Amino acid sequence: MSDLERYSVIETGFRREFILLQGTGCRWRKCTFCDYYLDTSPDPYAVNAPVLEEVTGRYGVLDVINSGSAMEFDDRTIALIAETVRKRNIEDLWFETHWMYRSELEAFSAHFPCRVHYRIGVESFNPDLRIRWKKGIGRDVTPEMIRKYFEGVCLLAGMEGQTEEDIMESVEIAERLFDYYSVNLFCPNSSAEKRNEELCRIFAAELAPIIRRSSKAEVLIENTDLGVG
Ligand code: SF4
Repeated sequence: MSDLERYSVIETGFRREFILLQGTGCRWRKCTFCDYYLDTSPDPYAVNAPVLEEVTGRYGVLDVINSGSAMEFDDRTIALIAETVRKRNIEDLWFETHWMYRSELEAFSAHFPCRVHYRIGVESFNPDLRIRWKKGIGRDVTPEMIRKYFEGVCLLAGMEGQTEEDIMESVEIAERLFDYYSVNLFCPNSSAEKRNEELCRIFAAELAPIIRRSSKAEVLIENTDLGVG
């Protein structure tokens, strides 16, 4: 995927530079709603180097996502992120990773000369939904266990089989336990999952304005709402 926007600056709320880099491909690839793990190429570094060149360090915070987990970056990209942190005086670096990498976070953080924070696509704190969506985060995994490793979570809204109560229960847990959370309205894609259109309408009209009152929350109605993708 070469036509994606890969650099943006978030000027409201949690101010930061936000970049979408290429990894070497998601190793999980099972989430039922996902088709973006296709964003990889034979030479991700060639895609990533010009994007990292755009980073200015203006807010001292760099948020790096890829279509998969940060542990799936190639070594040259990891080294260039570390160099960019040094060169641009980045103090806080955010990554996303899958639950299966939880025991590797500390070792991965050691690559970077700054504070490193992790976010996880938990999608829901309702284990039945997570299992149905094949997230790979087991029934016995509690929000408190997730919080031991991750400071932020991404939640999903608007799916078939989900209810308004499910969404708000997960939002309540994210608000109580985590430093950051996003709530992403599901956008139809090439996966087999469908939107619940009525739930999406209620989400956009009624729930999103309530969630947006929190300084920890970002509500994403389109996949590109953070300026990349
Ligand atoms: S949502 Fe993330 S972890 Fe799941 S298949 Fe897609 S890229 Fe992989």
